[in-house]
Amino acid sequence: MKVIAGVDLGGTAINYTIMDAQGRFLIEGLCEHPALSTQGPDVCLGQIEQGLAIAAGKAGVALNDVVAVGLDTPGPASATGVLSARGSTNFVHRDWSGYDIRQKLEARLARPVTYLNDGNAGALWGHFSIFGADSRHTSITTVIGTGLGGGVIIDGNVVKGRAGFGGELGHVLIPYQGIAGIEGIKPVCNCGRIGCLESVCSLTAIGRTLLPYFLPRYPGHELGQMEIGKAAKLVRGMAEKGDALCRDIFRVQAHGMGLFFDEMINTFDPDALIIGGGALETGLEFQQWFLAETRAAMPGQREEQVDIPIYVMPNGDTAGARGAAIEALKVSGL
Ligand SMILES: [Zn+2]
Repeated sequence: MKVIAGVDLGGTAINYTIMDAQGRFLIEGLCEHPALSTQGPDVCLGQIEQGLAIAAGKAGVALNDVVAVGLDTPGPASATGVLSARGSTNFVHRDWSGYDIRQKLEARLARPVTYLNDGNAGALWGHFSIFGADSRHTSITTVIGTGLGGGVIIDGNVVKGRAGFGGELGHVLIPYQGIAGIEGIKPVCNCGRIGCLESVCSLTAIGRTLLPYFLPRYPGHELGQMEIGKAAKLVRGMAEKGDALCRDIFRVQAHGMGLFFDEMINTFDPDALIIGGGALETGLEFQQWFLAETRAAMPGQREEQVDIPIYVMPNGDTAGARGAAIEALKVSGL
């Protein structure tokens, strides 16, 4: 049986998946191996190779059955997988600077290797989860985590862009001034600009901007008694339970997402809008509330576009590896 492997190289761990020619995943959850990326490319690529054999075993296939490998990593990197020479928080060892990780891994594994950045891989998985492997649909996926990632899929293919920055949705500016209930707020983004989607919709935005804004409006709130970063991580759980302050924060995030989706609808006229990431790893009720708030915040749409569906992306932890495998399936000949 010929199969495809997906390899999601993160900051500390590599996560693997194995996929058959029909697009079925032979590993259900996480299949992790230490990345050791701080020790440089030679050690890390050795780890990738070693873990691949373990993953094949876990999937019940022989290593020789793996005919192509899809790799994804955090950026910044070129569209073809050359890591930025300007540095990256996940690849700090100096030998990673300008390193062609796709080509080196292909040489090491002696199999075709494809490359996506992690946001785009997650978006491809989101797309696949709705439309399947051979789709010619268009979708926009946002992944709300520490930052905001995602990607744009057009006619079933990832938009990688000229320099690998296609689908950097977190840094699309949104007209945040139109969000109700945050008059006077100044959402500064990690990138230094004001009003990027990520500066409103991310865990970082909660700790940096939204909690400091709302806490004075809820005197005596329990989150005001603790360190802000720690408090930020509790907001989602408390919002799900109905806490008013935390619901306000998530309402603002949903409104920001609605404004962003309106921009995407007018740019791409997509078949689907998809939201993933830790923010919506909650019960169904909260997810549906968030989607309803998102839709309510969208300015009026053309009649032809009011029914563009919004989905929650499944299986967040495995999204990168699965998206990477789907990309490799395209070149595998399977
Ligand atoms: Zn930004």
